Amino acid sequence: MGGVVNIDRKWLAALVQPVMMVARDKHAIVEVFMRNISLIAATVCLSATVAMAQDFTAGTWIDLTHSFNAESVYWPTADTFEQTEVFAGETEGGYYYSAYNFAASEHGGTHLDAPVHFAEGALSADQVPISQLVGPGFVIDVTKQAASDVDYLVTADDIRAFEAEHGTIPAGAIVLLNTGRAGLYPDRESYMGTAERGDDAVAKLHFPGLGVDGAELLVERKINAVGLDTPSIDFGQSGDFATHVMLMTNNIAAFENVADMSALPPTGSTIIALPMKIEGGSGGPLRIVAHIGDQ
Ligand SMILES: [Zn+2]
Repeated sequence: MGGVVNIDRKWLAALVQPVMMVARDKHAIVEVFMRNISLIAATVCLSATVAMAQDFTAGTWIDLTHSFNAESVYWPTADTFEQTEVFAGETEGGYYYSAYNFAASEHGGTHLDAPVHFAEGALSADQVPISQLVGPGFVIDVTKQAASDVDYLVTADDIRAFEAEHGTIPAGAIVLLNTGRAGLYPDRESYMGTAERGDDAVAKLHFPGLGVDGAELLVERKINAVGLDTPSIDFGQSGDFATHVMLMTNNIAAFENVADMSALPPTGSTIIALPMKIEGGSGGPLRIVAHIGDQ
């Protein structure tokens, strides 16, 4: 039930409308009723499912976002997150007031990679439609594979194995790859292979990523976005960023440094991933959460 989260209300209306129109002919009411009773029942069931799946007042919220602070993980060559106090305390006016300045690179902490990050002319951070950032979550667990191989590449076969158990990943899905490494964040040495910074540190990066064959399959599936609990959708040792290119030339967004997703079911969650709306940006800080409805 929980997997049916993205049913278009227009589609439901289209389903119900012909029944209502035919039923206006009084002589046909009984016949129409008999003919359509299963259709009506199915529609009511679907309506209930939609209402339930969209009821954000019940169920459970899971925050998949690391807090931004001085420890936030950034690429070794990128400026890190800085927060400076403008004022915090009692004012002369007798009221409390606090305000801070912050500065950061687009790509650090839990963040969005907009398609334009690796594809000229593709969607920028402000252009990625909200409909692409909200959708049904499909969580692929590769913790076992990644536990024994820090450079693990999630393969098309991993995705097919998930589909054999949970069904084909539908268009519009938000796919999350759980490599089991969110708990290492923000210890850069263990999380990404080196705590060093600067150009020379890049070659020392080690963490799992999505293989290009896996990316190609997700493009075929027409998913909306893919996220994972490492600093990059390409693995640490990547030199050509082929997975970024594969995804982003197809306008698929990526979420990186996603926090612990171990509490998420493989299917049935709703993912909401809204980034800072930076005009023309190649990405930016992201608040990503999951909602799980009551069963
Ligand atoms: Zn990024």
